[in-house]
Amino acid sequence: MQISEHAQQQFLCLIRCLLHSYSLLIDSSSAAPASTQPVSGRVLNAYSGDELVYNKTLGDWRTHNGVDYACAQDAQVCAPAAGKVTAVDTDSRWGSVVCIEDSTGHLWRVCGTADPTVQTGDEVSVGQILGRAGSIPNECAEETHIHLEVLQGEQYLDPAKLLN
Ligand SMILES: [Zn+2]
Repeated sequence: MQISEHAQQQFLCLIRCLLHSYSLLIDSSSAAPASTQPVSGRVLNAYSGDELVYNKTLGDWRTHNGVDYACAQDAQVCAPAAGKVTAVDTDSRWGSVVCIEDSTGHLWRVCGTADPTVQTGDEVSVGQILGRAGSIPNECAEETHIHLEVLQGEQYLDPAKLLN
């Protein structure tokens, strides 16, 4: 049986189309791991990039290196991404901070997480409870919120762009 050139072209086109769809499927499943806001509240202050914004607590202008999500005092705080807990610290500027490193190497710093229920070395899943909303000394003039930062090496990324 002779197959026409037109039929051959159609067949090749179909194969290419299937391969393309498959590569898109692979990309979408590996490029962006699941992520979520640490609390369900509205955005109080966005990430500012290089732009200086006024800090009501400190009374000066500086970059805002994360996103603030408003919530009730003591609200449950969840892991924004799955990964390994690399640090659980308390510092004088950010209060209690839980750091999670995800599979892409991003470091998620969940600032203002009081009474942490996880410890360094724990593996957490996305949405897992990390603690409750406490206070953030550097931003205490604001209503209660969680300050979420994402670092890639030394560079701050906009967490809002990574949430899906
Ligand atoms: Zn903030």
